[in-house]
Amino acid sequence: MKSFARFEIVPPSLRERNRARKGSEALVPDRWSDDWNNADVRGLLRALQGFACWYCGSPIGRVNDRSPPRDQHAVEHIRPKSVYPFLAYRARNYSFACTLCNSKKGDRYPVVGARAAWCETLEARRERLDHEEREWLHPHQDAFEERDFSWSFRPVPAGRLWTSYPWSEGHYWHVCAARPRTVVGQRIDRLFAFFGLNDGELVTARMAEIHELRRNIELVANLSKNPALQRDYVTRASRAMSSFYPHGYALRAWFEAQRATDIAAIFRSAKSAAPPQLQPPSKTVEWALLVGRIDEMLRIYVVDTASDDPTFRRDSHAEVERCAYALAYLYIAPPGDEATRKRLRAWFDKTLSAPVRALAGSKVRALGR
Ligand SMILES: [Zn+2]
Repeated sequence: MKSFARFEIVPPSLRERNRARKGSEALVPDRWSDDWNNADVRGLLRALQGFACWYCGSPIGRVNDRSPPRDQHAVEHIRPKSVYPFLAYRARNYSFACTLCNSKKGDRYPVVGARAAWCETLEARRERLDHEEREWLHPHQDAFEERDFSWSFRPVPAGRLWTSYPWSEGHYWHVCAARPRTVVGQRIDRLFAFFGLNDGELVTARMAEIHELRRNIELVANLSKNPALQRDYVTRASRAMSSFYPHGYALRAWFEAQRATDIAAIFRSAKSAAPPQLQPPSKTVEWALLVGRIDEMLRIYVVDTASDDPTFRRDSHAEVERCAYALAYLYIAPPGDEATRKRLRAWFDKTLSAPVRALAGSKVRALGR
């Protein structure tokens, strides 16, 4: 779960749709046009959210009918369009969710007291929505950080609960709860309860990611004589702990909790020192890692557009468009102050290959920047 911050650019297809709906925004139409699936909208969500379901943290990859439900994803209306029709085409009301979370949620969005009703001006509407007493966490409206989550990592004696999960060393289980005294904490707790975010299947998935992270850290410890390869594994470990990645929050929490004990022991037994870069990524590094990953995927999709399978070819074209838009948003609005932005843009120009830069550049123009 990640709070979404960057938000001053409206995707062109939503701008158009909202213009067309002017005057009838408060009504539920007979049929919705699914502009939220357009490449400019999905690209924006990728730039905001990266590669994890906003609710359960499961990986979000390519859209493919053959993938299992947790791997597929949908653009989710946080406040349901049937209840808040005036938010149907507002990017602030979208997140990526796996199809399982999306169907579990349906048209639910519990509030305490009265719901925010439609009113004439956008500003007044925002004000009402901000003050609606929501039961659940909202990625755009609640400010929250990792510190609002409280993770538990405990050794489990053999034969007890959780050890039946396929975790060869049987060392840890981990469960998340919120810090209960804050409003945000209570919202997190309710969201966890509703979506079953501490259910066995998801705990197992988080454990598998932690297992992988631990293995990469072991490789880092044992590769001190091969600095280039070691750097590669440091990057992998750091990337996995990013909040743009599946279960990134859990991995970051595990790393912080085990840094002085389990992780220190790994380096002690390898008789090497932990490289200084081995740590959860800062906000700026997270951004760079996200750009790197999207770039990597875009290049794969470009190759896939030459496939013999027409459906696959069409899907791949769509993915290329989405990735190019994601890079364009990230280029236009990198995080931080002006100096950081400048530095990040320069890095962006230097890092991306010329064809990818040209693709993203065409989307920067399409976004009117
Ligand atoms: Zn999910």
